[in-house]
Amino acid sequence: MASDSVGVSADDALRRLSSGDKRFVAGKSEEPHGAGLIERRHTLAKDQKPFAVILSCSDSRVPPELVFDVTLGDIFVVRTAGEVVDAVVLGSIEYAIEHLGTRLIVVLGHQRCGAVSAAVSGAPDTGDIPDVLKAISPAVEETKGQSGDPIDNAVRANARDIAKRLQNAGPIIPPRVQAGEVKIVAAYYSLDTGQVELLK
Ligand SMILES: [Zn+2]
Repeated sequence: MASDSVGVSADDALRRLSSGDKRFVAGKSEEPHGAGLIERRHTLAKDQKPFAVILSCSDSRVPPELVFDVTLGDIFVVRTAGEVVDAVVLGSIEYAIEHLGTRLIVVLGHQRCGAVSAAVSGAPDTGDIPDVLKAISPAVEETKGQSGDPIDNAVRANARDIAKRLQNAGPIIPPRVQAGEVKIVAAYYSLDTGQVELLK
């Protein structure tokens, strides 16, 4: 459970997420529920110090709080289909870094992502869905012709590309990354096992 999270280093934050995911995989989640949540809600009513930013897909099967076995106040979550980034998403992440003191950003892609699958298939879509697919297309192009599963390859490339782009995005994140104060990692969630794997 989080206590004072400002100053939680990126490495410590990553360790916490990783132990939480191990508990989730094993069916041994510990975070408060019932009365424990009421107490935590009161504690956090006037302040928050989340120890990590999670940028993940909106997919209903990948809720970061459950996957990492964390609770109220622990993580600052931004979710879009295919975890794609636009100005509002970037601004949301920047808010956590600038004003909440968060030092770890995790970009979480996942197995059989519908948004990535649609981008790989290249089929036309309606509404503003093409905007999402367009944002994923560099990862599709990059992995074309690679051995293995094209969707899985594109999911991994997409998370890596977004993490890389965030390192150089806007005025707030890059200097902190260069100073070693903020770390950005890409990760892959397996729908089959519940396991989160860090992507190199
Ligand atoms: Zn997805």
